[in-house]
Order: sequence, then C-alpha cells, then structure tokens
Amino acid sequence: MIDYRSDTVTQPTPAMLAFMQQAPVGDDVFGDDPTVNALEVKTAQMFGMEAGLFCPSGTMTNQLAIKTHTQAGDEVICEELSHIYQYEGGGIAFNSGCSVKLLQGNRGRITAQQVEAGINPEDVHKPITSLVSLENTCNRGGGACYEWSEMQAIQKVTKAYHLPLHLDGARIFNAIVYKKEDPRQYGTVFDSISICLSKGLGAPVGSVLLGNASFIKKARRWRKVLGGGMRQAGYIAAAGIYALDHHIDRLANDHYKALQLKEALLKKDFVSEVLPVETNIVIAHIQGKYTPATLVKILKEKNILCIAMSPTQVRFVLHLDISDDQLNETLEVLQSL
Ligand SMILES: *Cc1c(COP(=O)(O)O)cnc(C)c1O
Repeated sequence: MIDYRSDTVTQPTPAMLAFMQQAPVGDDVFGDDPTVNALEVKTAQMFGMEAGLFCPSGTMTNQLAIKTHTQAGDEVICEELSHIYQYEGGGIAFNSGCSVKLLQGNRGRITAQQVEAGINPEDVHKPITSLVSLENTCNRGGGACYEWSEMQAIQKVTKAYHLPLHLDGARIFNAIVYKKEDPRQYGTVFDSISICLSKGLGAPVGSVLLGNASFIKKARRWRKVLGGGMRQAGYIAAAGIYALDHHIDRLANDHYKALQLKEALLKKDFVSEVLPVETNIVIAHIQGKYTPATLVKILKEKNILCIAMSPTQVRFVLHLDISDDQLNETLEVLQSL
C-alpha cells in the first residue's frame, strides 16, 4: 500500500530503532529519565524557550496548553478549521470548560485585525477572552504557512491585551523548512508551542509542549491529572531526538513530491481545484465522475490510500515512507483514471 492518509503512518527506520534501543532511561514521573530530559532541553533550546514537556500526543500538548492558560468559563480564539476545535474531541470544553470564538481565516490562517476584533470587551455578559491559538502549518488549509510578519502582528495585539499566544505546531518543521525560518524566532513570538515528533519527523510517538519554566511546571501537573505521566519514556523520546537530528532537512523532499502530485491531479477532469501546495499536504476538490468517497475506494483498489476530507475534498499527505518509486506509481495510476 502507498499510504497518503497522514504523515502519522510512518514506521521508525532501522537507524531510529537502533538509537531508541540504546537510550538510557529512568522513571520520568520522578524526573529521572535522562533521555526524556535531554529531549525536553533540546527542543526548548531549539525554539529559544525555557522548558519543555514530553507528552504522548499533540492533542495532549495542545489541551495542556489550553488548560494551563485558561480558567473555566473563559473563551479561546482560534480559526474555525483548527485542530484544537475540529479534531480534539471537544477537549476545549471538556478539559478546560472554555468556549471558543471561531474566526474564518484564509486557508486556516487568521489576521491580527481579526484577532483584535475577536477579543471580548470587559462586560459581565461576555466570557473573558484568555487565549489566542494559531496553527502552523494549517492542516485543513492544505499545509498553508503563516507569514512571519502576520504572526508578529498578532503577537503585538495579544501583548497589548495581555493575552497568551499558543501555537499548534504539529507541522511546524514543514513551515520552518518551507519558509527557511530559524526555530528560535518562534520562541520570541509565542508563549507556548506544541510540536509533534510523530508527524513528518517520523517518530512513532510523541509531542513536546514548550513554554517558560512556570508554565511548564503547571502543565506538568495537568499532564499527571490527565494520565499522561509516563515512566521509562526515554525509549520513545530517543526516537524524537533521532528525528530532530536526521529528519528535518529531508522534509523539503516531501514538499517537492507534493507539488508533483498536485500537478498530476490538476490534469484530471474530476479535479476542479487543488489548494495551493506549500508543504506536504495536497487537498483536491473532486467533481464529475467521482465523489471523494468513490475516488478513495478506486485508489484503494490500486493500492493507494488517501482520505475524504469533506464531502467535496480528498487529502494526500507526503511523508518519509513515500519513496520516489511509489510517487511515480501514483502519478501513473492517476494518469490512467
Ligand atoms: C496531528 C495534529 C495534532 C496532534 O495530533 P495527535 O494525533 O494527537 O498527536 C495537532 N494539531 C494538528 C494541526 C495536527 O495535524
């Protein structure tokens, strides 16, 4: 199977597995796991932040950030397609008791002006706005990246209103590679950042929440409450360290492949539009002889997996387990449809 369903489907490479196996470990709930500690320090330094917290999933790192930044009854500002709202099981309400102010952005990206307009005034009728959350790259926006200047402009607004600014950076390394950014820039703009090691970087499990020391101390307590305190977690943290050392620059290859896939899709009369491709996600609008569901089925019969993203869209995600040969085979299959 050639699996484009998500960049989470990757298998650890033999070199990654070997590195995991030799990792020194300890009980991380006691703070004794040297490999987890090394990963937390490494990621914090990379992004110019004080501290990190290793977690089982990006959902947990996002939810811990929301829980730590807010009080029950508050409101969180985010884009309407954002993962924290769409794909975290109602966790904002369940874990934090917060409502959301959903903004309609451009392929998942919102502007400083929209953020400012979304902040509630001091008024007993209104929930207290207590957090702004951005996503970079934007999944439902087809892997769209923020402009650096826009994130800075948003920070200017959140600072003026004394609001924390969170980044769901599940695919932050795709944005960093595409935009040729330095991760440390992000530490100057955001109060907390969630990064995923199990997406394009190819680790089997794990995300890290980054922030200042007192924020991470509080988040660590909430991680325990949610049952996310892991013991000899160094084996999986080692996969993250390996991925950060070896799998960042190669993301450019996934982006190049995504562009080729986009070109092949645009040639088909059953594709009305493909969202602009910047990184590793290709979202195509389907019309005519196929629906997203029937196209997914036909491709599956030809050993190609992708997902129906909405009643009108299919999504393909590139990652390190899609080889050049597999991409070429996909392009041939598409040509034949
Ligand atoms: C995948 C993803 C997450 C986290 O997902 P987990 O499966 O819980 O690790 C968060 N945000 C975005 C945008 C994602 O794509």
